[in-house]
Amino acid sequence: MGTNIIWREEWKRPYESIWSLIENIKISNSINGSELSQYINENKVNRRRSLRNVNKLSDEALNKLNELTNIDFFEIKTTMLKLSKLERYNPLHYFHTHLCFCEKCIQYNYHSYLHQYKLIDVCPFHLTSLQTKCEDCNKDIYFFNIAKDIPFTCKCGYQLYQAMDEPIWKILSEYEPILKVSIINDNLTEGL
Ligand SMILES: [Zn+2]
Ligand SMILES: [Zn+2]
Repeated sequence: MGTNIIWREEWKRPYESIWSLIENIKISNSINGSELSQYINENKVNRRRSLRNVNKLSDEALNKLNELTNIDFFEIKTTMLKLSKLERYNPLHYFHTHLCFCEKCIQYNYHSYLHQYKLIDVCPFHLTSLQTKCEDCNKDIYFFNIAKDIPFTCKCGYQLYQAMDEPIWKILSEYEPILKVSIINDNLTEGL
């Protein structure tokens, strides 16, 4: 299997979550989740994990993704760790495990780890309240499995955004999220 992944630097938006990036990598390369997992060997490494959680990918997998796309996934992880510095034992405790998303952002195939941060309950870019349930089945959306085949969907099949006629590269490079809140924490000034 070839390992040519198409990714352009201008497609990565600031504060973008690992999940959002992975879903966009799938879309822009017309590959499904199992194929992407194979590219990064995550099937082999994480065979025992029932869910291949995008926030718990191995360093090997992150390295491989980095090689394929040039996106610095470690930097995203570091920023998330900084946001959760208070919680020493389980940094992910500061992030919701179900999806919290902004209806406006998702129109641009964009989701931020800041949407998942428990201390913020509005979209930091639009100041509107976040969606925390699937509009269709009304359940929490668990979204972290990298091997999920159809990007940006709930388990029930409901698609979180309305696919537009515009090509993916246009959607990705046209939207630049701008922070409208300031997160006051001395630990964060660098990296945010
Ligand atoms: Zn938003
Ligand atoms: Zn649903």
